[in-house]
Amino acid sequence: TTLASTLPQTPSGGTPVARPLPCAPLAVLGRDVQVPLASGEKVGYAALDYAASSPALQRVWDDVAAYAPYYGSVHRGAGYLSQLSTDLFEQSRRTVAEFLDLREGDQVVFTRATTDSLNLLAGAVPAGTRVFAFETEHHASLLPWAHAGLEVRYLAAPRSRAEAVAALDAALAEAPEGPKLLCVTGASNVTGELWPVAALTETAHRHGARVVLDAAQLAPHHRVSVRESGVDWIAFSGHKLYAPFGAGVLAGRSDWLDAAEPYLAGGGATRTVARETDGSVAVQWHTGPARHEAGSPNVIGAYAIASACRALTEAGFEALEAREQRLIDRLTAGLAEIPQVKVLNLFGPGSARVGVLSFVVQDWNSSHFSAALSAEYGIGVRDGLFCAHPLVRTLLGDDTPAADSACGAPDASLPGERSLNAIRVSFGA
Ligand code: PLP
Repeated sequence: TTLASTLPQTPSGGTPVARPLPCAPLAVLGRDVQVPLASGEKVGYAALDYAASSPALQRVWDDVAAYAPYYGSVHRGAGYLSQLSTDLFEQSRRTVAEFLDLREGDQVVFTRATTDSLNLLAGAVPAGTRVFAFETEHHASLLPWAHAGLEVRYLAAPRSRAEAVAALDAALAEAPEGPKLLCVTGASNVTGELWPVAALTETAHRHGARVVLDAAQLAPHHRVSVRESGVDWIAFSGHKLYAPFGAGVLAGRSDWLDAAEPYLAGGGATRTVARETDGSVAVQWHTGPARHEAGSPNVIGAYAIASACRALTEAGFEALEAREQRLIDRLTAGLAEIPQVKVLNLFGPGSARVGVLSFVVQDWNSSHFSAALSAEYGIGVRDGLFCAHPLVRTLLGDDTPAADSACGAPDASLPGERSLNAIRVSFGA
């Protein structure tokens, strides 16, 4: 309501602040972050950019802090601390497997994040595999396949869940024989809308295609069961699941992963390495997760992810989802009262979503609007194309290619022009 009464003027006189204010030193932020406004006043910070990275849970920091003084090398040392770290690392793998409800024979590979997981899988897909992906995907799900030299069939943005399933069905029906893979997101990082994962997986499997689920935005908000959904692989990031940066997961079927060239060549991935008489070096690689985890693993990252998985399971997804739904309802009802605001939906208004929502404001440049939310109210959102350029352009009804650095905001220097980018609000547990 406050915003509605101030549009298109901002409280400080109508000139939105386009650049964030200088940040205070870390030490003075405290746990309940107080941020300076353009007026000089300080307010509690409203962190509404969880879709990009969610602040780590206190419980996760506590677990990491308790373990940090004792970590030692994983899988490599005979000493006590090395054994302890190896145990915790492997226990973390089992915790993640339980969290994801994996099947017998599935494996958990620790990676750096979702992007890393999907690139790893792209490199492990058998040659000749045809990949299917909706053009609405995040770039991490859209781009690794062609980058790895695979043939990709990009499917046009569907305007309903039924249309998505029908489009996949039609595309797979006319695909030639051979291995096929669908990469699909569980929840959009732009609109927050839930994708019909079970129906898409059933359709893909009926045509002999496998499925990898990009759960970067789904896993922090909803219980995910690999067994029940039937997906073949799943990928997510620790830093979006209330754990720190630097670790992620690729989990699922072992056959393609075990048959593939290792993602990285190096120590830990090898069973034996021997110098041959002809001067070459012969390598036998491990199967299982070690094959793709060469080098000293990020044991703190894996442990933190496992801690977040335990915390979410104990909190209970039913309760988390109910709370989040109340917030989504409040947000959508509030935005609906502001005539200048247009919420972006691919599947139509009111479609089921996680705590992620994007909108544009009439006569406002989204970058300026977001900067004003920060400078005038202490509300931290994100503006831009959210590393999903084709999707945002479809939602804005605009085919103009916009220059965009780091998936971020196009030029924010023109107040009042029609937005070529959007504003995203996102929250979580
Ligand atoms: N997939 C989706 C749906 C995302 O939202 C993101 C990040 O925003 C990614 C993949 C990539 O995640 P990361 O940057 O952690 O690799």
